[in-house]
Amino acid sequence: MALIGALAGLPVLAGCAGKPHFVVESPVPGAAALQPGPGVTRHVVLVSIDGLRPDAIDRYGAATLQRLAREGSWTYAATTIMPSKTLPSHTSMLTGEFPAEHGMQWNTNRTGARGLVEVPTVFGVARARGYQTAAFFSKAKFQHLQQPGTLDYSQAPGGRYGGWSARKTMEDVEEYLTDARPHLLFVHLREPDYAGHLYGWMTPAYASAVRVADQAVAKIIALADRAYGRGGYTLIVTADHGGHGYNHGSDDPRDVTIPWIAWGAGVQPGPLGGRVETVDTAATVLWLLGLREPSDWAGTPVTTAFDAATAAAAASATGGGGQ
Ligand SMILES: [Zn+2]
Repeated sequence: MALIGALAGLPVLAGCAGKPHFVVESPVPGAAALQPGPGVTRHVVLVSIDGLRPDAIDRYGAATLQRLAREGSWTYAATTIMPSKTLPSHTSMLTGEFPAEHGMQWNTNRTGARGLVEVPTVFGVARARGYQTAAFFSKAKFQHLQQPGTLDYSQAPGGRYGGWSARKTMEDVEEYLTDARPHLLFVHLREPDYAGHLYGWMTPAYASAVRVADQAVAKIIALADRAYGRGGYTLIVTADHGGHGYNHGSDDPRDVTIPWIAWGAGVQPGPLGGRVETVDTAATVLWLLGLREPSDWAGTPVTTAFDAATAAAAASATGGGGQ
């Protein structure tokens, strides 16, 4: 890894200066009493695969993602924000706001100079209502999203460009889920983006990285089945951006088109019509948990991905509309 980075003249992604950031918060007093009535599900697992183009799923036989699409509700024509870069896009995914509102317009770890994101995250909104939240970030720039008091557990690598492999992330998620049962679990996998920058999007190396991420999703499902029970959670798998050539960030369709797949509890299988944007993800997560998104959020819940009767019950419980 270090050798590859050095040869390519890129920043070495492991072992750079700056410390990883592991945050364990004290439990919220009386958390269970704060939790609202039933939503669609008690547990949501949200997985973001960095740099995953939707057209890579079938082309490279990402069997787990193909299974999720076959059994779940999916679109391969969802869109991310501009700039189609990791930190601005994930911040939109996890705050329901566009970059002009959330302010994360850069794409490296600048927490020392610029501090943390200042708008509410999906983690903070859920935790304030008594839900346990956890996030496994595999790039240092996610330290901007580790707001105090919003995540029962979170981890992110250190340095400006620090990164962790899916293998390490999976080991850490497995260990965490031996006794934790967060209502909202977020897992970020970086492999496709890493291979895309080094070798190019849609190259054999990128294809291998997509399959690595796909296998990690299979592992997440196995761990979630064990932790929550089969059918005891809703899984959403998406991406922050695609890519072409050796980069991303533009408004080219290959950069801004992302997959969005919902699978598990409450899901109505079949292709998703209509427009799905990355800002809708945070609102969907809250709606699944029986919470309403903050009124100023740009995103709305993707209720069409879920069983109509379940969706209606959840909508009346939250008083929310959705799309
Ligand atoms: Zn990215």
